Amino acid sequence: MKRKLSVLLYITILLTFTALSALSQVVPRSQKPPNVALTNGKWFNGKSFDSRTVYSVNGRFKFKKPARVDSTLDLAGAWIVPPFGEAHNHNIGTGVEEWDKRAIQKYLADGVFYVQIQGNLPLKDEVKHRLSINRQNSLDVALAQGSLTSTGGHPVGLVERILLPQGYYPEFTKETLKDYRYFTIDSEADLEKKWSLILRLRPDFIKTFLWFSDEFEKRKGDSTYFGQKGLDPHLLPLIVKKAHANNLRVSTHVTNAADFHYAVTAGVDEIAHLPLLGLTPIAVEDAKLAAKRGITVITTCAIVSTLPPMILRKEDLPQVLKTQTVNLKLLRENGVALAIGSDNVTDSSVKEVEYLRGLGVFDNLTLLKMWTETTAKTIFPQRKIGEIKEGFEASFLALEGNPIKDLQNVHKIKLRFKQGFLLEP
Ligand SMILES: [Zn+2]
Repeated sequence: MKRKLSVLLYITILLTFTALSALSQVVPRSQKPPNVALTNGKWFNGKSFDSRTVYSVNGRFKFKKPARVDSTLDLAGAWIVPPFGEAHNHNIGTGVEEWDKRAIQKYLADGVFYVQIQGNLPLKDEVKHRLSINRQNSLDVALAQGSLTSTGGHPVGLVERILLPQGYYPEFTKETLKDYRYFTIDSEADLEKKWSLILRLRPDFIKTFLWFSDEFEKRKGDSTYFGQKGLDPHLLPLIVKKAHANNLRVSTHVTNAADFHYAVTAGVDEIAHLPLLGLTPIAVEDAKLAAKRGITVITTCAIVSTLPPMILRKEDLPQVLKTQTVNLKLLRENGVALAIGSDNVTDSSVKEVEYLRGLGVFDNLTLLKMWTETTAKTIFPQRKIGEIKEGFEASFLALEGNPIKDLQNVHKIKLRFKQGFLLEP
């Protein structure tokens, strides 16, 4: 398994090396971005493309010509879209910096500038620095750091039985990962006791796990459900309250429609999956409430077919996939914000988007908006990103073709521009 992953990563590196040698150009963060006239581009306006000149002034989009223009970048008729986002992955903070670096390079090559890591090894400042994340010339990452589950809950089984043997977290053991990579919260007292430890890791948001909440009592003390249980759903509102008091958003893993219900009523900000193993659809009232509360739901649809039989029985897969499509339509029809996330360490969100396109639930325009606007907004809700608007960060991708006509054009990236600078020579 480990070897297979390494080979995959190696192939990825080979494929992206040429594109990436250009990305190593270092622009110091202290350097003030020049005023750039961006000419001959067709700019995405949220519906279609406008031919116009746009300016990057101090790293922000301006539509009016500034008093001083330092340089001109001829976009040569390219279609200009905001950068892409990946709202659910775990390929940074693996404990193996080479793996993290490869993942970062793949993201940038694929045009993904914003990534949300939904729980992994907490990254310390010096590691962030070595990986050079959250800088003008690299990837912007929001990190959950250690996530919150119950004793024996998900992701404990995954960490102990799969990730550790695969070579993740080489400097850690089962014992040292507990209450660090994940926190076990079984009571309000645990939450009180461990909350300061959770905050000490300086998370960008709080990741929580529900797993068949309607069977919580049954699964809680039963070791046959090791790794297939989650938090007591009644603790979730308390976690939300604490997190919000600390200006932290809450993201919740959900496995079935009951979990979705508990997450929505607890007032979480983000739901990290469509109900992953759901055999029955989300209740219409819960979809409506999610929309009303402005909760964003992350897709993670492509991963479902690859889940091991231990997690998802083969005979249940057709029904789970059918439910997935029903849920996507239900959430779309009720106006719930849907963000793109793969939950797949070998993906960067590109394969997830391809999978969603294949389902035929969304047209290309909708997918493009989900991938740029909605995804950027759920990862960095405080920033003006994900749209090409006056005053927004001057970050974009220049594509060789119109992605609304043919979504394959998202693979044809001519150049990348981030916060007022080219990411390529
Ligand atoms: Zn995940």
